This record gives sequence, structure tokens and C-alpha cells, in this order.
Amino acid sequence: MEKILELEGISKWFTIKKHFGKRSYLKAVDDVHFFVDRGETFGLVGESGCGKTTLGRLVVRLYQPTSGRVIYHENNNLVDLSSLDEKSFQKYRAKIQMIFQDPYSSLNPRLTVLQIVTEGLSSSSLSISDKKRLASQALENVGLRPEYLYRYPHEFSGGQRQRIGIARALIMQPELLICDEPVSALDVSVQAQVINLLTALKEKYKLTYIFIAHDLAVVKYISDRIAVMYLGKLVELSNSKDLFNHPLHPYTQALIASVPVADPKMRKLAKIQPIQGEITSPIDPPQACLFASRCPYAMKICHQGIPELKTVENSHQVACFLYH
Ligand code: SF4
Repeated sequence: MEKILELEGISKWFTIKKHFGKRSYLKAVDDVHFFVDRGETFGLVGESGCGKTTLGRLVVRLYQPTSGRVIYHENNNLVDLSSLDEKSFQKYRAKIQMIFQDPYSSLNPRLTVLQIVTEGLSSSSLSISDKKRLASQALENVGLRPEYLYRYPHEFSGGQRQRIGIARALIMQPELLICDEPVSALDVSVQAQVINLLTALKEKYKLTYIFIAHDLAVVKYISDRIAVMYLGKLVELSNSKDLFNHPLHPYTQALIASVPVADPKMRKLAKIQPIQGEITSPIDPPQACLFASRCPYAMKICHQGIPELKTVENSHQVACFLYH
């Protein structure tokens, strides 16, 4: 498989206070490595606050990393996106687009759909009529009528607004889409429609997705591979089937067990206790397994060092001393 994106030791720490000369850091993303193959859907899951949205924002450069590199693979050239100046990054801004979680706040209520969908083309030399034509096509591609171009966001339902957000991304002819919880703010009945639309668009335009979600059922349905995040770190990465049939990390096991499912094989996992114990603070976290305070299998070694993400079988990677 050909890679499209690679994260090399990417970290994003936020300074939260400076007291008597001492800084404290909230480690939203800490030393994350993974790659994404061209054409795949790479799922990223974890509880709220685990750093998955921050990671998506690092890829589209809404945040600059504290350390590490975001590498884009382009025709055998490796481009370090994090080191490009703003002008050089413009080309990649079009190739990597983001669909945001909340269709109610991600669209400017003062702008028409035409203005919203063509926002990314503002610096292009296209004529107004060309922009209108492209915007009409983009709306049709997401199942909306071109007449909607002159309406405002408040005139649409949540599902329609999310379609407008997708059209805004599509008009840039991206290669990689970061879908940040694109259906979590929608009614269940609308979620399936948007997921099906994203699946159809991926096929039609040979897109690659990083699909961020906390809903495991959605991620399982759409993803080829899945990475699990916990407090800013990747704790498990595997193809979707292995992750759900044979989860290795105690946190992944607990996450899967918490999903109500009808499948009897999965129900066996439900015997695992729900996650208990205090969650470790992401502010100046200890040099230990960050799940140790909640893990039923915690050992002495788990409090003495950070387990690295290592391959244990068939590209199945896990960061846990039980397997090292
Ligand atoms: Fe549990 Fe230790 Fe594995 Fe962490 S490293 S998940 S504490 S067994």
C-alpha cells in the first residue's frame, strides 16, 4: 500500500500555568506515531478529551506541534508539513480538508451557502461564475439542490448543514479528509445517511479518511484500521476486525465491552468490568502507564515506565506491559 500521511512522534502540549517559574503542561497529544495508507479509512477512537480532535487539528495545521513531524507523501516525495511556511503550505491546505463535529457552529450564520462553500477558493483566480458552478456541483455531490446556494445556515436541518460542511471540503478537491466526529451531533436516523454519503464520496473521488469518533459502532462500520487513544497516547492500533474480535489493551477491551451489542461473540466481552478508578490527570502526567490507575491488571512495572506501542502480531500494535 502507498502511504499518504505519517505522524512521527507528534506531540502537542499546552502550557496551562507558570507558577514561581515552574511551567505545567497539559499533554493533549504525546509522542504519537502512525501512518495512513492512501485510500483507507483510518479510525481514531477514545473518550472525550483523549486528544483525538487535537491530533486532527495538528494534521491540518490548525495547531503547530510542540514536537514531531507531520509527513505528507506526494509522488514519492516526503513533505514535512509542520516545517512549511504559510505560503508553501497553501497547496496542502487544499489537499487536506477537515469536516467539523458540530454543523451548528462550524458554519458562519451570516454567510450564504455560496460564500461558505467557496471560502477555500477566496485566494484563487477563478471567476465568480466559475465559483458558482463549482459550488453547485459540490452541493449536488452531497445531495443538496443548487438553489440552496443563496440560503443561510439557519434554514437547514443538522444533516443538511453537515452536508454543506462536506461540500465546503469537497470543492477543494482534497485527497485526505479529517472527519472529526462528523455525525455525533446528528439524530441517529440522519447519522446513517451522512455515513453512507461519506462512503460513496470516498469511492467516487478515491479519498482517504481519518475518521475521528467516540462511537465505536460507527468507527467499526466505516474503518479499515483503528487506533485507540487514551490521554494523548495511542494505546492500540490494528485492523478493524482484529481490534473488535481480539482487543489486547485493557482500555480497548473495556471500551468495546461498554458498547451494547446483539452479537453473542461480543457479548462475552461484556463480562469485563466497566472502567473503574480515578482517571490520571493529563497535566504533568507521571512517567508510567496512564491507564494504571484504572487497569484491573496493573503491575509494579506499570507504575515505573511508559509502555511503548509495539507490534505483537500481524501488524496489531499495543502499548501495554502485559504483552512486552
Ligand atoms: Fe494495565 Fe499495565 Fe497494561 Fe497499563 S501497562 S494497561 S496498567 S497492564
